[in-house]
Amino acid sequence: MKISPIQIKLSDSRKEKPNPETLVFGRSFTDHMFTADYEEGKGWHSYRIVPYAPVTLDPAAIVFHYGQTVFEGLKAYRSPDGTVRLFRPEENMKRMNLSLDRLCMPKIDEEMALHALTKLIQIEKDWIPTLNGTSLYIRPFVIANEAFLGVAPAKKYQFFIILSPVGAYYKEGIHPVKILVENEFVRAVKGGTGGAKTAGNYASGLKAQEVAGQRGYSQVLWLDGIERKYVEEVGSMNIFFKIDGEVVTPAINGSILEGITRKSILQLLDYWNIPVAERKISMDEIREAYEAGKLEEIFGTGTAAVISPVGELNWDGYKMIVNGSETGPLAKQLFDTLTNIQTGKEEDPFNWIIELKNELAKLA
Ligand SMILES: *Cc1c(COP(=O)(O)O)cnc(C)c1O
Repeated sequence: MKISPIQIKLSDSRKEKPNPETLVFGRSFTDHMFTADYEEGKGWHSYRIVPYAPVTLDPAAIVFHYGQTVFEGLKAYRSPDGTVRLFRPEENMKRMNLSLDRLCMPKIDEEMALHALTKLIQIEKDWIPTLNGTSLYIRPFVIANEAFLGVAPAKKYQFFIILSPVGAYYKEGIHPVKILVENEFVRAVKGGTGGAKTAGNYASGLKAQEVAGQRGYSQVLWLDGIERKYVEEVGSMNIFFKIDGEVVTPAINGSILEGITRKSILQLLDYWNIPVAERKISMDEIREAYEAGKLEEIFGTGTAAVISPVGELNWDGYKMIVNGSETGPLAKQLFDTLTNIQTGKEEDPFNWIIELKNELAKLA
């Protein structure tokens, strides 16, 4: 494939970098961003890296009214020898195209997007924090920016990649969270947009999240939208249960977002010969396992936290305390292995990591 050239306009000034000790998620952004435009008939064009700045949009831009927008989330790490490493970025670009397609938005060229990302990170590499647990969060997204109040796919779009240095998810080491099983609100139904990373899914989840927060729970566990019986996922994480030695996660069914962390964990468990199943799992089954003393561990998986152990699950007032509210051994082992592979402290037997210096050499 021919990679279209990227125009680069560097910023005249540089922002002060945040203190890595007190970094929070998604509040500070680097000096530059990548962007490109799309027009029907012309395709994607005007690839450019420009100073990070607000964008001007027509108030009638379709994204504001009908939510035609998708996003991705991944991380870059700096390993002990200074090498910049990306975790499975091609999976994110592939998934972005699935989301784009679901929202009737034009697909991006995955190779072009990876090339743009590599270039941008090369320019911003000093923004990648090196303190243990910190990383550079990467947020690619596409919006419909055509000014039109009709309900129809836009004819104009803009693609962005922005970067944000983020802190350790667990400041005092990995620790379990309390989760409320959501019986009233639903996130997605089969045939809807639950499988796509699109804004509306998150806006519609806020109400349940707010109610759970008021009751002292950090997240909600979504159930299937039809019977409110089967487990789907948590916030922006997929969910795993260890029951009587076997690891179970809900099968991808059209309403669950297929996480790249989830996929990686399935591969790791298989590699370790730990029995694992992707299937439907009901709350009744979980309660039965709990009562029989067979519910060993629960954990969520996603790019932000990597692994998030669940210490308490509250289902309609019935509280299940998992592994004495302590991080289970499997959650710990998965967390350590994945983060060690991501940061280059451990070998990567799956070829998940892309080292930036190799990528740049390929492009040169
Ligand atoms: C992003 C996301 C996940 C996790 O996906 P990863 O690729 O592992 O980060 C899970 N569920 C939802 C709803 C998400 O948006």
